[in-house]
Amino acid sequence: MRILLLGPPGAGKGTQANNLIRDYGLVQLSTGDMLRAAVESGTEIGLKAKAVMDAGVLVSDEIVAGIVRERIQQPDCANGFLLDGFPRTQVQAELLDQMLEELNVSLDRVIEFQVNDEAVVRRLSGRRLHQPSGRTYHVEFNPPKEEGRDNVTGEALIQREDDTADTVRNRLNTYYEQTAPLVSYYTEKGDLVSIDGMQSPEEVYTLLRNALPN
Ligand code: AMP
Repeated sequence: MRILLLGPPGAGKGTQANNLIRDYGLVQLSTGDMLRAAVESGTEIGLKAKAVMDAGVLVSDEIVAGIVRERIQQPDCANGFLLDGFPRTQVQAELLDQMLEELNVSLDRVIEFQVNDEAVVRRLSGRRLHQPSGRTYHVEFNPPKEEGRDNVTGEALIQREDDTADTVRNRLNTYYEQTAPLVSYYTEKGDLVSIDGMQSPEEVYTLLRNALPN
């Protein structure tokens, strides 16, 4: 299965991606995670991307398409993948179409998560991350057993630098200006199903599973 998750930051894409990986064995292609890994290891791409990401705007189409192109050709993606956070612009969507055509595959479903802005700001500003594992928590909705510590390893949790209130607003504006038009792009292609992302994570996952092809 090849799935694309679309929706504003904080819509629950990452949370639901983890459910799908667990249950369907899909490979997750998250450009945000890949870029954060590049920043962490200080590669050339990471050095270029850091300031842009911290400001809540988009990294260049060439850079992100380049990292997806490299990853999507790896053998483990042959059994199916889950795109999370890519494409985010019309140009990226067209570049993805080219990559899929070269691989002779197509997307089985594009899922759009619908959430309101207020919820996004609340979700993101309370989000905490255990960076090595990617496990996420929320100070209010999903607190760790011990404050500020990962449940499994006990290591310190961090707040993403772009999860602060000002940057979250920039990320939302960026979403509406550059990414939201992709909803019509995929609707026209006939692949898109919208689901209500305001429900609990369990309820959203039920809606998501029902929206997938059998
Ligand atoms: P995310 O983890 O998906 O919220 O991404 C965090 C940040 O990484 C975004 O605010 C962008 O700066 C950058 N980023 C992630 N994916 C993309 C993409 N497909 N195109 C451009 N920038 C991206």
